[in-house]
Amino acid sequence: MQNYNELLEANLEWVEKRLDLDKDYFKNLSKGQNPPFLYIGCSDSRMPIDTFTQSEPGSFFIHRNIANQVFSNDMNFLATLEYAVEQLEVEHIIVSGHYECGGIKTAHDKCRHSSIISSWLMPIKKIEVEHKEELENLATEQERLDRLTELNVLEQLKHIFELSVIRNRIENGKYPRVHGWVLDIRSGKIVEIEIPIEDWKSKGIIPKEYQV
Ligand SMILES: [Zn+2]
Repeated sequence: MQNYNELLEANLEWVEKRLDLDKDYFKNLSKGQNPPFLYIGCSDSRMPIDTFTQSEPGSFFIHRNIANQVFSNDMNFLATLEYAVEQLEVEHIIVSGHYECGGIKTAHDKCRHSSIISSWLMPIKKIEVEHKEELENLATEQERLDRLTELNVLEQLKHIFELSVIRNRIENGKYPRVHGWVLDIRSGKIVEIEIPIEDWKSKGIIPKEYQV
C-alpha cells in the first residue's frame, strides 16, 4: 500500500511514462469526453472498474456509493444519470455490485436503525425479507450473501428502468442498453446478471419498446 507522499511521486512517474509513449496524450485527453459507459458501482476501494477491464481514462462516466444503490430521490445520482444519458449519450448503463460487499454484509448482519449507514442500507434489508425463502434455502452463509448481492443488482436495474429519463428515451427510440454485473472479487472476473426482460416487460417494469 502506498503512503501519501508515494501517491504524488507515483503520479509524476505515470505522467512521464505516458508522455514517453505519446507526447500529446494529455493534450488529447483534455479536449473532452465521449464515454460509452455509465458505470454505477460500489464505493469499495477494491472496485476500480477501469483496472478490472483494462480501460483507459475516458471510458467510464462513474457514479459510486455504498452497495451501488439507485434511488429516485438521490439528486447526486439523478444529475449524473441525466448528464450521462442526455448530454454524453452513453451507449450502455452498467450497475455493478461485488461479492464480499461490506454494505451487503452490514445489511444482512446487524442493521441498526439509528445510524446513517443503516438507513442507507435499509432497502437491501427489504430485498432480503422479500426473498427470505429463496435465501434461506441456500446451504451456506456465503451463498446467501452472494445471492443477496445479485438480487440487489437486479433491484437497482428495476429502479433504472422506472426512471422517467430512461423511459422517455426508450419510448423515443434512442436509448442506452442496461446491464447488471457482479464483480467476483475472489477471482477478479465479471459475472453478468441475466435480466428477465420479457417478464419485466409483462409487468410494466421495462417499456415494451426496449430491445437488448
Ligand atoms: Zn461494496
